[in-house]
Amino acid sequence: MDTERMPQAAFSAMESAPAAEFSTLSASLQWRILDTLFGQVSSLFAAAPAILLCAGVVLIVGGSRWLLGWAAASFAIVGVRALLMAAYRRRATTDQPMRWLRRFEIGAWISSIFWGMASFAVLTERNPVAVLMIVNVQSAYALAAAVRNNAVLRVALAQVYLVLVPTVFFFLASGSKLFALFATLFIIYIITITAIVRHLGRQTLNLLISRDRMGQLIEEAERSNAQLAAANAKLERLANIDGLTGIANRRSFDASLARCWRQGLREPGPLSLLLLDIDHFKLFNDSRGHQAGDECLRQIARTVEQTARRPEDHVARYGGEEFAVILPDTDAVGATAVAERIRAMIAALMIPHPLSGAGFVTASIGVATYRPSGDQHPEIMLALADEALYEAKLAGRNRSHTATRVGASDPVHLAE
Ligand code: GH3
Ligand code: MG
Ligand code: MG
Repeated sequence: MDTERMPQAAFSAMESAPAAEFSTLSASLQWRILDTLFGQVSSLFAAAPAILLCAGVVLIVGGSRWLLGWAAASFAIVGVRALLMAAYRRRATTDQPMRWLRRFEIGAWISSIFWGMASFAVLTERNPVAVLMIVNVQSAYALAAAVRNNAVLRVALAQVYLVLVPTVFFFLASGSKLFALFATLFIIYIITITAIVRHLGRQTLNLLISRDRMGQLIEEAERSNAQLAAANAKLERLANIDGLTGIANRRSFDASLARCWRQGLREPGPLSLLLLDIDHFKLFNDSRGHQAGDECLRQIARTVEQTARRPEDHVARYGGEEFAVILPDTDAVGATAVAERIRAMIAALMIPHPLSGAGFVTASIGVATYRPSGDQHPEIMLALADEALYEAKLAGRNRSHTATRVGASDPVHLAE
């Protein structure tokens, strides 16, 4: 993932103060960070041996008893924080990330304050080995906690300061020169940890933001792929539909005829084709206008579609006022019957046509039936149906005509 493609705002957020930053991050990123904060139950339990080590000072070198009380309280805090982590796992999906950050922060503060209090030993313990043992464990805890929680710099640095600044203070308050030297070393240690944690925090945020962005990009890509697929499917549908009548268009008809022809080659059987042409449609337009003409075409398209009832029949607008019907597995007798039914249904619409002899809109239909063969093209059917249509027109219109001509050289059979 190229970091240069990440939003500029996210980068500047990373460079600036971390506290304001968390609230400005995306919710998914906030939850991702909270997951890293709360998802470390095992490291919480690592605090147990550290606490025991500090308390062990009492037993090993005869230290003060208050350290035992301190250890007990520290254990209680670890327990409460473990419960908080368990609660985080059961959180509701409607929860606010800021609230969980606040809860984690308070837990971290209390725990750090207690660790900071351990350095009170600087004033109460006489044995410098005991003191060093305690501050050693303490500084290890501060470093571990800050590194662990570096994703939210505010929390991480608060842990460093709350644990280690009291130690510096107690070293100075002890009046010992050796401890004053330790105080100086601790200040350097605090500054170094601060720099390390800041650096780590920035890197962690960088990483989390890029992972978040990558997730978003993948989601976006998936979404646009789905949209593209839907748009393609729609386009494919539209490319096959006639805009005026809403039925299949010429493109779709050509594909259907080729498909039926191939199907006929595989499973030999009669294939029929009807070509329908509205009679005197130019005169219809002239007398009733183009809008009425369009509506007439829509009505006839609906009628033809409703009349060719079998699911495998294909009805299409072939051209201007011409329609085509493919009737698979239908012989000439069946096809003629369908043609007659369609013709009669159109006539029954009684669409007024002042300039036609009948006084209403009629149609002529040419019928062709073939048994598809490998050395022929489906266009031959079209030519035959067109010829039959011409015959129907010639014979006076408002009728169907079934082709009987079979080309002498064509190895085709007129279906019985
Ligand atoms: P015939 O009985 O011989 O078929 O005569 P016709 O007038 O129907 O045939 P012709 O081919 O001379 O005219 C067809 C007319 O169909 C011409 C054109 O204005 C009309 N037409 C074609 N497409 C449309 C359309 O989409 N809408 C309308 N309103 N008219 C159309
Ligand atoms: Mg025509
Ligand atoms: Mg016509």
